[in-house]
Amino acid sequence: MDAQITIIGAGVVGLAIAEKVSEDFVDVLLIEKHPAFGQETSSRNSEVIHAGIYYPKGSLKSKLCLEGKKLLYDYCRKYDVPFKRCGKLIVATSPDEIPILDGIRKTAIGNGVDDLEILDKSRIAEIEPSVYALQAIFSPSTGIVDTHSLMKRYETNTMNNGGNIVYASEVTGIRKISNGYEITLLDSDNNNYTFTSRIVINSAGLTSDLISGMAGINDDSLKIFFCKGEYFRLNPPKNRLISRLVYPVPVHNLEGIGIHVTVDMGGGVKLGPDVTYLESNNYDYRVTPSKQESFLKSVRKFLPFLEYDDLSPEMAGIRPKIQKPGDPVRDFYIEEESDRGKPGFINLIGIESPGLTSSLAIANYVRKLIRN
Ligand SMILES: Cc1cc2nc3c(=O)[nH]c(=O)nc-3n(C[C@H](O)[C@H](O)[C@H](O)COP(=O)(O)OP(=O)(O)OC[C@H]3O[C@@H](n4cnc5c(N)ncnc54)[C@H](O)[C@@H]3O)c2cc1C
Repeated sequence: MDAQITIIGAGVVGLAIAEKVSEDFVDVLLIEKHPAFGQETSSRNSEVIHAGIYYPKGSLKSKLCLEGKKLLYDYCRKYDVPFKRCGKLIVATSPDEIPILDGIRKTAIGNGVDDLEILDKSRIAEIEPSVYALQAIFSPSTGIVDTHSLMKRYETNTMNNGGNIVYASEVTGIRKISNGYEITLLDSDNNNYTFTSRIVINSAGLTSDLISGMAGINDDSLKIFFCKGEYFRLNPPKNRLISRLVYPVPVHNLEGIGIHVTVDMGGGVKLGPDVTYLESNNYDYRVTPSKQESFLKSVRKFLPFLEYDDLSPEMAGIRPKIQKPGDPVRDFYIEEESDRGKPGFINLIGIESPGLTSSLAIANYVRKLIRN
């Protein structure tokens, strides 16, 4: 075998897996089609370290988010990756939303998130004076992280562990052979290469369903739907009026958690993301300027000081959803595929939020699948 373990995709999850498995194994190879890491979803998100409040009890999303949050804070401290444990408010702006807060708190406690506080109007005014709310949940363990620095550190540690990273090479074919897989790559000069690997880990984000199909695992329930989220920036000087994350109460099926307000490590403030399933799976990262009015309307409920000209189009990201529009929430799909006749092939599909928060916990989970 040319490689013991091949990981496809150098987003934040593939990189975390590469770091963790290269601690245990030699001949680890990470393949990425772009010339550098994190050119897709991992650079187009809210950069929030989620507390694990909303996910269904017992789901991988819930378990890996909780574990991942703790691992990520420890990792950031250890390796000087910039982060801030700034906390988050979930706000009720009308009396009918107050019971929803109660439900969120109960789900969170069931998930092991036991540090939430209920704040009344006067306490909210003390900590975020520009925010309007009748009541709020405060989550002290929610934070933000500089995702680029995090990915850079995963990359450096992978290489320090002896792992190899090959950029600008796209996986175009995967064939089962007797004791592993033969993988075909297309490089940036249009040359094809093949090599063999005992274990293959599919961490290809938006195209992970296609990679799975290349290996012969075609399953309609694992088909990815591109689901776009757009952001608007809150222009200076009003960005200085917000210092924490502020979320409305979420919509019922968790397609997204409502247009919220996130702060970043540089003091910038973003509104979004919204939730729009794309008609076809294309990489449409354009921001729709005409949405400015509706973004303003949603967040003015809790940021009443905002005016139209305080916003500007910022960026968009695309969620790799296996949940069809209108369907109930789906969990991360992380499986070793022996049952489908593909031993040593590990699929990670539908790694949407909280994938960034969970990256180290997902990596440990995959490491266990390999050991088993
Ligand atoms: C709008 C939005 C907001 C979000 N906010 C948060 C948040 O605040 N907190 C949080 O925890 N999570 C958040 N997420 C989720 C988080 O961003 C993702 O879960 C995470 O980035 C997924 O990382 P990944 O490595 O699985 O995928 P990706 O970052 O998509 O990486 C996959 C990589 O695989 C490569 N690849 C694909 N096909 C091939 C091929 N054939 N050959 C070689 N390489 C290939 C791609 O080029 C890509 O680099 C958000 C997501 C979105 C869209």
